[in-house]
Amino acid sequence: MAYGFNTLQVHAGAAPDPTTGARNTPIYQTTAYVFRDADHAAALFNLQEVGYIYSRLTNPTVAVLAERIATLEGGQGAVCCSSGHAAQLMALFPLMSPGMNVVASTRAYGGTITQFSQTIKRFGWSAKFVDFDDLDAVEAAIDENTRAVFCESIANPGGYITDLDAISAISDAAGIPLIVDNTSATPYLCNPIEHGATLVVHSTTKYLTGNGTVTGGCVVDSGKFDWSASDKFPSLSQPEPAYHGLKFHETFGALAYTFHGIAIGLRDLGMTMNPQAAHYTLMGIETLSLRMERHVQNAEEIAGWLEGHDAVDHVTYAGLASSPYNDRVAKICPKGAGGLFTISLKGGYDSCVKFVDSLEIFSHVANLGDTRSLVIHSASTTHRQLSPEQQEAAGAGPNVVRISIGIEDAKDLIADLDQALNTATA
Ligand SMILES: *Cc1c(COP(=O)(O)O)cnc(C)c1O
Repeated sequence: MAYGFNTLQVHAGAAPDPTTGARNTPIYQTTAYVFRDADHAAALFNLQEVGYIYSRLTNPTVAVLAERIATLEGGQGAVCCSSGHAAQLMALFPLMSPGMNVVASTRAYGGTITQFSQTIKRFGWSAKFVDFDDLDAVEAAIDENTRAVFCESIANPGGYITDLDAISAISDAAGIPLIVDNTSATPYLCNPIEHGATLVVHSTTKYLTGNGTVTGGCVVDSGKFDWSASDKFPSLSQPEPAYHGLKFHETFGALAYTFHGIAIGLRDLGMTMNPQAAHYTLMGIETLSLRMERHVQNAEEIAGWLEGHDAVDHVTYAGLASSPYNDRVAKICPKGAGGLFTISLKGGYDSCVKFVDSLEIFSHVANLGDTRSLVIHSASTTHRQLSPEQQEAAGAGPNVVRISIGIEDAKDLIADLDQALNTATA
């Protein structure tokens, strides 16, 4: 029997502890695991048997979370990491090598644009940024050295929706995996794998944990990509010297990418999630659907109200009929366009600064996806390292404030926004 989302978000991956009967998933606060004997240890180290060795690679609490997220995303397997940014590097690592590139959307989290345009160069990788609404440009950007296509389902900060079906048709035709950052949408609102994504990455820091307590990330593999169809992905299709010539794809099939992520990625890059973080995120995920419903309901009401306010020039929420992305809601995220969007103020940069300083319920922080309502002036913070052109392309110009709508009472949030907007324009 196929369980529904609400059941899976509470139960997937977990079972009562076999030793103690503990109903909630224990925090396995241990670094290492005792081998039954020397043969058992050898089999584990050779990947001939699956089991726990050392918590840089796997930990039972973290494993429950990985299985839960994989299940909610409809994937074959998942690897949890220390942050969303770690997840992005972990996602690219098996695919890339020096000289290779990733084709990425200009509309992305500011930190992602910095990571892809600056930091990955140190590995000899590069990124080509294109407007993902221009399908011809996406297709044209893919060359013989492209190893991945990367975008967000609902893009941070504007809440713009990517036409994942159209993008995956292009990546499929090129024989390249599509990586979708599903942080802002969550698997409750959007299932990128159903729209052709090969891999899904998350900053679990945001809605999955949901209350701004711990950082974390996750890479989910659909298990659908044929890594051996070309010679482009030797890490997965060719013999691995560190495991006596084992071929991941041939040996592990649909779990090849997940096993590689643990046995090579976590082992050697060490961007591991700790069991305490996994515990908080497991607690958060249990209420994901309830929170997302309220985030969406509040965002719809508040975005509509903001659109009519004199001080506001523009509201980007895709759930509004005025949004050019409104058509995509029904197709990509039918339960709603999320809780994240930006507003631009007629008063420009100075008004934005006064506005964020005058809010009382909303906090000015570099975070989103919290139960609490949050704002940030992207141009002076998260998108500060970007050029003016990159800021505009990412939807984070100087007159723009990003809003992450929480689960408080909408009328209280509206009253707070109203007083701050009036102060900002006085
Ligand atoms: C926050 C965020 C990230 C980075 O995640 P961290 O957990 O902060 O490393 C990546 N993508 C999106 C869409 C985000 O919102």
